[in-house]
Amino acid sequence: MYLKTLHLRQFRNYQDQKVEFAAAKTILVGNNAQGKSNLLEAVELLATLRSHRMGRDRDLVKEGESTAQINATLERFSGVSELTLTLRRQSRRSVAINGETVRRQMDFLGILNAVEFSSLDLELVRGGPDGRRNWLDTLLIQLEPVYAHLLHQYHQVLRQRNAFLKRHLEAPAKSLQSELAIWDAQLVTAGTRVIRRRDRAIQRLAPIAAAWHASISGSTEVLEIKYAPNISGEENQPGEIEQAFLGKIQQRFIAELNQGTTLVGPHRDEIELSINQTPARQYGSQGQQRTLVLALKLAELQLIEEVVKEPPLLLLDDVLAELDPYRQNQLLDTIQDRFQTLITTTHLGSFDSQWLKSSQILFVKAGE
Ligand code: ATP
Ligand code: MG
Repeated sequence: MYLKTLHLRQFRNYQDQKVEFAAAKTILVGNNAQGKSNLLEAVELLATLRSHRMGRDRDLVKEGESTAQINATLERFSGVSELTLTLRRQSRRSVAINGETVRRQMDFLGILNAVEFSSLDLELVRGGPDGRRNWLDTLLIQLEPVYAHLLHQYHQVLRQRNAFLKRHLEAPAKSLQSELAIWDAQLVTAGTRVIRRRDRAIQRLAPIAAAWHASISGSTEVLEIKYAPNISGEENQPGEIEQAFLGKIQQRFIAELNQGTTLVGPHRDEIELSINQTPARQYGSQGQQRTLVLALKLAELQLIEEVVKEPPLLLLDDVLAELDPYRQNQLLDTIQDRFQTLITTTHLGSFDSQWLKSSQILFVKAGE
């Protein structure tokens, strides 16, 4: 797929800026705080309706304005489409395809596919499980947009069940159990859908990431990725997950009542990253952790390409300078002209002349 144009209106520090992408590779160069990452964020929002920075919509709207708009023309094998995301300081966002408002977000997702790689992604290795779940969820909504809907349903049930638990913190446990059973059933049904899809995605991603990791690290180190649901029993049969889930909820009933919150379910799951059976967090240097994240990102690119049958965009935010020349080349060789790539940098010095010659270079200064 190819992003032809991007139009930012009152988005972050942009007032009104049109950009035409004239080559498969675009380098956005500029000093700090000029708007390079903001531009990448706009593309990421169109692809996933989420952002690495996880700000609220009102933070995305330019200071002093009430609405922001991101507009793009995208060319795919199936034709050209125009995507619009409107963000509002005071009310809900809306999306449109070819000028027509789309009611369900899942109908908007999956048109533009993009993988973003920024220094924040190091948190995938170093940070807590919520960052990894968020990463996997963002990948999944691109692989199968209906997942956005399933995840939303799960979180709705979870919120309601938590509210119920909180309301009844003081109530006698006996009478509660039967009322809670209604929520349990819904939680298990919605949660199992999430667990199964996450597990399936990790099973597909893991061997691709392991192959990239072996190739980049040039060693015999073995990268393993496992989806670890916090219910016991990891069997893949749908019935068995549901039974294990329900069993675990019943086990934790008293603890949930005491804490007034749901302790079991995919909102507590972990994605285990390990190298030679050592948890990646405890493993190696910063450079080795970066290698791991690079392998994950390349695997994401490849998996999306396999599933949607078109190469997604790659958004590289300031990461090139952090890689050593060998890993830089690994990445650049992979990209070539296969993936349309937007790269931000504060200086052009880290690119070889071949790259500079074949890239479009945009100078970013104060939102222009
Ligand atoms: P760096 O090299 O430091 O990463 P950058 O070019 O990537 O810089 P951005 O992250 O794109 O910089 O941010 C540019 C500027 O946008 C920042 O100065 C920030 O204050 C500003 N900014 C962010 N949100 C808004 C907003 N809602 N309204 C106005 N300006 C904003
Ligand atoms: Mg930046």
